[in-house]
Amino acid sequence: MIPFNRPAVVGKELDYIADAIERRRLSGDYEYTKQCHAWFKQQFAAKDILLTTSGTSALDMAAVLTNVQPGDEVIMPSYTFTSTANAFVLRGATIVFVDVRPDTMNINEQLIEAAITERTKVIVPVHYAGVSCNMEVIMDIAKRHNLLVVEDAAQGVNAKYQDKWLGTIGQIGCYSFHETKNYTCGEGGAVVVSEDSLIERAEIIREKGTDRSKFFRGQIDKYTWVDIGSSYLPSELNAAYLLAQLEQADVINQDRLHSWQRYYDGLQSLAANGTITLPTIPTDCTHNAHMFYIKVKDLTERQALIAHLKANDIMSVFHYIPLHSAAAGKKFGRFHGEDVYTTKDSERLLRLPMYYQLGDDAVDKVVGAIQAFYSQK
Ligand SMILES: *Cc1c(COP(=O)(O)O)cnc(C)c1O
Repeated sequence: MIPFNRPAVVGKELDYIADAIERRRLSGDYEYTKQCHAWFKQQFAAKDILLTTSGTSALDMAAVLTNVQPGDEVIMPSYTFTSTANAFVLRGATIVFVDVRPDTMNINEQLIEAAITERTKVIVPVHYAGVSCNMEVIMDIAKRHNLLVVEDAAQGVNAKYQDKWLGTIGQIGCYSFHETKNYTCGEGGAVVVSEDSLIERAEIIREKGTDRSKFFRGQIDKYTWVDIGSSYLPSELNAAYLLAQLEQADVINQDRLHSWQRYYDGLQSLAANGTITLPTIPTDCTHNAHMFYIKVKDLTERQALIAHLKANDIMSVFHYIPLHSAAAGKKFGRFHGEDVYTTKDSERLLRLPMYYQLGDDAVDKVVGAIQAFYSQK
């Protein structure tokens, strides 16, 4: 059986967890958390980064940091995970969904400006499949309209737009280390803060609204409640696992990119004759092979293909019922403009197995099964 996902175990995960236990320091912000922070700052030139308990909690923190108020509007694609929207809905904001581009399934940057109103405060580009949104256009719009940009880079860790790492381009970026992501610790995430004026508040929000981080650094002699916040810091056990993965980030990345390219080459002939559509990587983007997806004709064909693959012991999945058509999406948001691609292409998209050490044989088996499906038709 070829599973859809299999979380990587690639280095010193067990050693580091054992060491963290030995140290008798299990709650957050000790040695392993600090080492993860240092790794990200060095590798991605991140101004500041704080590990969180999940990508969702990174987004929750980001929403608090933006200071959105009830009635404010936040622009994002509808084709995303619920957490992208929930974070802002929890602050009382209204979500304004904008259509995606069919080539990348990212927010269509050309449609953002028309969706801006007096109440708009934030734009949330989601880097789908680790392929960057057009950040040049998005950052320019945000600057001209005085908006903040929160990157949902949950899938975009170790991917780039031009010469910048995803998550470090907007004022705030959010990463996920869920077991389905490229680098994992089971459940985990991080918030990247690239705007100086937000750094201190980020620490406070993450530490239950207290200035305990300053206290830990010896900058103040007692810590108190200074702002709203919650507990967003992960345990050292999670950080220990994550550090082991980060140390092997290149190995993981190269392996995934290899599988991605093998899928791409293997499925090229079906794409060339118009049977399926393959993902596009715009020239400005260096992706991280977070996902390999194909687009088929329609919903019916997708169902048949999933069943065919399953009969061949291959697990394929789809995701994201567009948020604007879900019950909560209707209540908390609205779609600006016309839904040309969001719904239609979400019904065509199928994700193939993709994980570290998937291996050539597995990729070839999946490709062969897809080819067989279409030659039978
Ligand atoms: C995975 C994901 C999240 C949520 O991350 P968790 O760590 O699972 O909470 C948010 N947004 C996107 C686009 C994701 O893919």
